[in-house]
Amino acid sequence: CKDVGHRLSGSTGAAAAVEYTRQLMIAYDFDTVYLQPVMVPNWKRGPVEILKIMNSKKRGVIDLNALALGNSVGTGSQGILAEIIELKGISEIQERKNELAGKIVFFNGPMDPTLLETFSAYGAAVSQRSSGAARTAPYGAKAIIVRSMTQSLDDVPHTGSLRYQTDIKAIPAMAISTKDADLLSQLLKDQANLHIYMENYAEMLPEAQSFNVIGQLTGTLFPDEYIAVGGHLDSWDVGEGAHDDGSGCMQGIEVLRVFKSLNIKPKRTLRAVMWMNEENGSKGGKAYANLSEMRKEHHIAAIESDRGGFVPRGFTSTGSAKQKQQLSKWKILFEPYGLHDFDRTGGGADIGPLSKQGTFLIGLLPDGQRYFRYHHTEKDVFEAVDRRELELGAASMASLVYLLDQYGIKN
Ligand SMILES: [Zn+2]
Repeated sequence: CKDVGHRLSGSTGAAAAVEYTRQLMIAYDFDTVYLQPVMVPNWKRGPVEILKIMNSKKRGVIDLNALALGNSVGTGSQGILAEIIELKGISEIQERKNELAGKIVFFNGPMDPTLLETFSAYGAAVSQRSSGAARTAPYGAKAIIVRSMTQSLDDVPHTGSLRYQTDIKAIPAMAISTKDADLLSQLLKDQANLHIYMENYAEMLPEAQSFNVIGQLTGTLFPDEYIAVGGHLDSWDVGEGAHDDGSGCMQGIEVLRVFKSLNIKPKRTLRAVMWMNEENGSKGGKAYANLSEMRKEHHIAAIESDRGGFVPRGFTSTGSAKQKQQLSKWKILFEPYGLHDFDRTGGGADIGPLSKQGTFLIGLLPDGQRYFRYHHTEKDVFEAVDRRELELGAASMASLVYLLDQYGIKN
């Protein structure tokens, strides 16, 4: 993993990861290992990223820690110099829409620290990042800046994807670190006419060829019933995407390796799947489900791990009442190992499209308190993942796959 590095869709790192995981599964002697072609967006950050306050009365020019948001357009060499306006969230746009023209809009709504579940806080705040640009461009905003999606207070900016609307002008968007967001907000209290300069060269290139990577153990009794398990192989283009989602990929492969090494011949067909392009398009998940449908495959269940390689606490799920009932019956088998949380709705972005087949969708639910320290940053590196916690997650997934394989699950 240290050799491959980050793996944004369309990058050489992503291509290297496809080959690395393919070779790894061949080395583990899985029954079949193959690539599934998928066209992916090919976004490039560009070589230079500048964001600075130009006219602070207190401190003059101040460089800010910033990263362009994924899928963002760039400013080009002329840059954008404009007055800044702070909003606390998407909900404030309507009220202040007449003040946005010609300005850089600064979304500074923090992830709510009073929510126990970090993913709930993320879910409540992330629309600033994903739709802030498209929501403010119609009112004449020139660009947006977003407070990083984390509860940590530090100098590390968090990237992540945004979505433009086809009929709305695409304006540049960058994330700034939480410390810089606090600084900017503080300075604005004393000086309303702060000006910001933004310069970057982000651009969306034509789609690129990429692949989902699949390893399979073919079922002995019901080979036409499939259980898929894995994560997404692509990552953001900073750090190494170790928690997000190298962990889920390795856990998926580990599940099949455990079956092999214990010489358990599965009744049903097990697939370790490394989906491509979850971060900025989800093309891999859609392609996998479409192809599966064309081949009339029936996935009885799919398990995705995409919440970091932390100690497992349970599983989320989406499915019929019967399917969920079956899962909760098995809860007692996991409780001695610290997994107790089986009631939440969930699954995973990549397995979601399989729901059309009636597939029971399951997500590994690890402890979530530390994930957003690393999420989409340069800090998400191999060393940030604890081997034992990662293995506990893989073992939990393997145990659940074993139960699903032995007993099946009715929808
Ligand atoms: Zn992810």
